[in-house]
Amino acid sequence: MRARTCDAVVVGAGFAGLVAARELAARGREVIVLEARDRVGGRAWTAPGRLAGADLEMGAQFFSWSHRYTSAEVRRHGVDTEDFDAAELLPTRWVTDAGFRSSNGPDIGPTDAAAIEDLIVVVREAAAKVEPGRPWLEGLTPEEASSLDASIRTHLTEAGIAPNVVETLGLLLGAHLVTDSLAERSMLHLAALAAVNGGLTGYLGGEDYLLADGTSDLANRIASELGDDRIHLGSPVRRIRAGPNGVTVTVDGGDVGASVAVCAVPLAVTPDIEWEPALDPRRVELARSRIGGEGAKLWALAEGLPDDFLAVGAGTDLLFLAALGPAPEGGTLVVGFDPGNPDFDLGDTDAMEAAIGQLAPEATVLAVAGHDWARDPWTRGSGPFYRPGEVTSFQELLTSPHARTVFAGSETSLLRPGYVDGAIETGFRAALEADELLANTRVA
Ligand SMILES: Cc1cc2nc3c(=O)[nH]c(=O)nc-3n(C[C@H](O)[C@H](O)[C@H](O)COP(=O)(O)OP(=O)(O)OC[C@H]3O[C@@H](n4cnc5c(N)ncnc54)[C@H](O)[C@@H]3O)c2cc1C
Repeated sequence: MRARTCDAVVVGAGFAGLVAARELAARGREVIVLEARDRVGGRAWTAPGRLAGADLEMGAQFFSWSHRYTSAEVRRHGVDTEDFDAAELLPTRWVTDAGFRSSNGPDIGPTDAAAIEDLIVVVREAAAKVEPGRPWLEGLTPEEASSLDASIRTHLTEAGIAPNVVETLGLLLGAHLVTDSLAERSMLHLAALAAVNGGLTGYLGGEDYLLADGTSDLANRIASELGDDRIHLGSPVRRIRAGPNGVTVTVDGGDVGASVAVCAVPLAVTPDIEWEPALDPRRVELARSRIGGEGAKLWALAEGLPDDFLAVGAGTDLLFLAALGPAPEGGTLVVGFDPGNPDFDLGDTDAMEAAIGQLAPEATVLAVAGHDWARDPWTRGSGPFYRPGEVTSFQELLTSPHARTVFAGSETSLLRPGYVDGAIETGFRAALEADELLANTRVA
């Protein structure tokens, strides 16, 4: 790339970066987007015809009409949606050391139903302390904040829920929070997600549509609003150097000069870029911790499973396994997620079949596919899942600018981190912040 200059350089063309760039361009700012991959969309990626003619969502897949930023883009671009009933995704099978237990939808027996009610009460009390979309610690005393930012396990135990019931609830929550241990997840994070979704049940079962032509299609449509000349694919940013009035962003073939930068890469890969001045060490610490969320999304083509199959497991290789309907050329598509086991290897078909067999021994696995986001060099994780203490220590920092760079991306969302909706929200926020910086920039 020859040396270029512009008002704002946007690093990363996921939903956050694309929307930030579009909104800046709409304000008359000259924008250049630099994207490492050969496609836009980042963690929203529809792989065409991957299993028995089915297009597979390797990342984001489920949405709700209450995800107002995503839904606004869906309407803006007139994309077709397909109904999806998340309520069907309450477990039909629970797998524990004690063996298999099957149930039919939400009516899973009096003991479990009571436990779920206890859980709802605990989360409701916590969620009442968090205002959706506002900084989560706002209005809390330091004592309240640190108590709320303790682990979900601590909160449930202190509420008097028996340890074995906490374990069972862990299977349900862990499938959503991508963990096999509630000791590893902050109640404050769960409370914020419950608050924005109108309660715990809204969070666990709120999604109600899919994008008929895939998430990549929506990302491509937003990209086309910007035009090809503004987006440079295959352009990994290596260095961001800020001076008093501008930034110089280095890619392999040259530099881009701009008055401001919008960094819209996943938090976990932020320190892979060389920064001048150096990033706040606390941001690096958080990025290098496992807040990026680990785990791989596994798809399989199988036979022998009912349409409503959903298993959650304790001590199993997969957190959950769900049937998502028939593939165009036959067989049932199933999807699962591993909790971040470093030995989990999507390329090892025998191991994947064994992992599926732990939850669904009756299934015949015909083929497997998937994507390991933790090993993806442009992501290094699936999404933000705060551990105890992390919100209180880091949230303010995550949304603060650095030199002449503002940050966007799902990890920086106060509304819905870990979702496309959160990513888009931060695109709008970052565009406003960058525009303000531009307005206040003195022209030499
Ligand atoms: C398995 C999985 C399932 C999910 N399911 C859902 C779901 O059902 N519903 C939902 O709403 N959300 C879901 N999400 C979350 C959602 O996908 C993300 O929150 C959202 O897509 C993140 O968008 P983003 O723009 O913040 O980041 P990204 O999409 O990660 O975009 C960042 C971009 O930066 C690029 N980049 C990185 N480093 C550099 C560099 N040095 N130079 C240039 N470019 C760089 C990357 O290539 C990437 O394109 C899921 C995520 C995963 C992984």
